[in-house]
Amino acid sequence: VIQIEPRKVWGAKHGRGSLDPGPESLVVIHHAHKPALTVHATVEQEREAVRSIERYHVGPPNNWEGIGYNFLVSPAGRIYEGRGWRYQGAHAGPVNPRSEGVCLLIDGQTTEPSMASILAVRALIREGLITGEIARDYTISGHRDHMPRTCPGDRVYARLQEFRHDAIAIVPSLAIPLTPPQLDLRRIERPAPAHVEEIARVRRLTPDEIHPGLAVAEVLLRGVAEAAEEEVRAAVKRAADALSEWILAR
Ligand SMILES: [Zn+2]
Repeated sequence: VIQIEPRKVWGAKHGRGSLDPGPESLVVIHHAHKPALTVHATVEQEREAVRSIERYHVGPPNNWEGIGYNFLVSPAGRIYEGRGWRYQGAHAGPVNPRSEGVCLLIDGQTTEPSMASILAVRALIREGLITGEIARDYTISGHRDHMPRTCPGDRVYARLQEFRHDAIAIVPSLAIPLTPPQLDLRRIERPAPAHVEEIARVRRLTPDEIHPGLAVAEVLLRGVAEAAEEEVRAAVKRAADALSEWILAR
């Protein structure tokens, strides 16, 4: 079971709109644009960002019943409940009745999505598939696919398919499901040469530039292979963030 911060914890003041149980056939990715957070934002800063989006959505000219997204995800990979699974979102006009709207708390025009946020969205989708809120043959799209908008920004839009729960990972060793019992870190394997080449191509790096980052992630993960589940989750996030920052710094 993944951790999703409930509405009352971040301080929702408005409603959820109408009930609309799944399965939904679309996951629509958004960016907040503003406020744009980094992996270093505190939980309280993230909560305030979510509250500010709620205020924006209920005010004129939107006048919605509450925050429009079904979920919001911070760069650090924390997930906030918007309307939640079983309510219709207000985020992508014509496809609201058949979609789950997920908002990244970044400016996706100028900022790459963090590895932690990608992993969080994958875990969220996996949960939706297990609980039947997302259809097995779902597709991922961006806000701009459904309305004349730039959302979720060019940098996020170019990487949309990485958010699929079954995506070929940038780092295959980090693609293991975050939920036990599938979480078996003893089975971590070095990425195959073909994977490394794919990573290099997508990230516009040479394979030689990729290997040090993979080694860092692998060591971090192997170091916690026998640790308690919570520690493992935390380490996976740390490894993902470290690797993400390392890649972005190239
Ligand atoms: Zn949007």
